[in-house]
Amino acid sequence: MTSPVWHPYAHLKTQAPAPKVVGGDGPRFTLDTGESLLDATCSWWCMIHGYRHPRLVRAIQQQADELCHVMLGGLTHAPADRLARELVRVTPAGLNHVFFSDSGSVGMEVAMKMAVQYHHLRGKPAKRRMLTLMKAYHGDTAGCMAVCDPEEGMHSLFAGFLPQHHFAPAPTAGFEASREEVQADLDALRAVLEAHHEEIGALLMEPLLQAAGGLNMTSPHYLRGARELCDEFDVLLVFDEVATGFGRTGRMFAADHADVTPDIMVLSKGLTGGYLGHAATLATDRVHSAFIGDSPEHAFMHGPTFMGNPLACRVALESLAVFEEDDYLGRIQTLNGVLREELRDDAALRAHPAVADVRVLGATAVIEVHDAAALAGVADFARERGVWLRPFGRWLYTMPAYVTSTHDLRRITEVMKHWFIDRRAP
Ligand SMILES: *Cc1c(COP(=O)(O)O)cnc(C)c1O
Repeated sequence: MTSPVWHPYAHLKTQAPAPKVVGGDGPRFTLDTGESLLDATCSWWCMIHGYRHPRLVRAIQQQADELCHVMLGGLTHAPADRLARELVRVTPAGLNHVFFSDSGSVGMEVAMKMAVQYHHLRGKPAKRRMLTLMKAYHGDTAGCMAVCDPEEGMHSLFAGFLPQHHFAPAPTAGFEASREEVQADLDALRAVLEAHHEEIGALLMEPLLQAAGGLNMTSPHYLRGARELCDEFDVLLVFDEVATGFGRTGRMFAADHADVTPDIMVLSKGLTGGYLGHAATLATDRVHSAFIGDSPEHAFMHGPTFMGNPLACRVALESLAVFEEDDYLGRIQTLNGVLREELRDDAALRAHPAVADVRVLGATAVIEVHDAAALAGVADFARERGVWLRPFGRWLYTMPAYVTSTHDLRRITEVMKHWFIDRRAP
């Protein structure tokens, strides 16, 4: 019998049988066939320490022996309290309050509810729509689908089911663009705010790197400009750092490149090193203090069953400790050097007729093609060469685990390049 497991984003008629993973070590996982595959995606970007990291495994084991779960409603525990303090310490100055939840999508739902309620409590109930960007991806739940790219995103089928929000064009100026080059993108943002600010509660963005919407990159100047616009129009700035957080762009958080503190920031994916599902929505004093008051409406009415799960908090604490003690930012810089040299600066790759663009930021690299058909078969090609790649749409990318050696990373970039340049090469 075929498995009753229903796979995500899979066309049931054409999907290939899913390889069965039986274990993993460092940047590789192993299949029941005995194959060992170098994971170029670190499992949807979350397994930043790779597989079976001894410290993370031990942290879960120790915590399991003490306390696996207890509700956060009316109770607290040391792992939640310690993790909240650590997140306040490492995130941009001013984000002093932490609301836990169980996934990136829910973390974003929490951010949006918080923004709407914030304005409501301040006597501006009309500010209940979001401003979001084309090419955005913020999750798969209903509230999140409504703020994903409505055209190129994967949720257009649900348009009639979703609330309506405002969209600004995706930024076009790249990471290294100057302030002047970013001006047109900021003008586009301003135009939407000028027209609709009275009903806009928050501007949502994946800072610097719009990930699942096509790895579109923008400049720190864009983040600074967005901050100023939000202040001018009394709109909260929400950074969805679910993908960019914990080093992916080369700094601990994308916000750090711009020295910008958003009003609300959402973390997930790398938060637990990928070992357990969890998320955190952080808020500034300004947001938090609006919720201090006497009416029943001042309570924030949200509370996922598994928020602040002790196992997840404990492994997140260990993940952060490893990140800092093992100098991951240094490792990411080294990986970045390899990605630039092997992909971004490869003239033959850039000149290939199928290739539209090659972009690198932190420990992220993408080869964008003109036509998705140019990537048909690349996953099998990579697997035969011991690498797990999973392109989507027109984007062939790598977001390796930070424990990936430069030798292994060169293996990944070689496979990505040889798909275009010399397909018979090993
Ligand atoms: C993955 C992702 C989400 C959704 O997180 P889930 O844990 O899959 O719900 C939200 N925002 C961004 C930027 C993401 O990359």
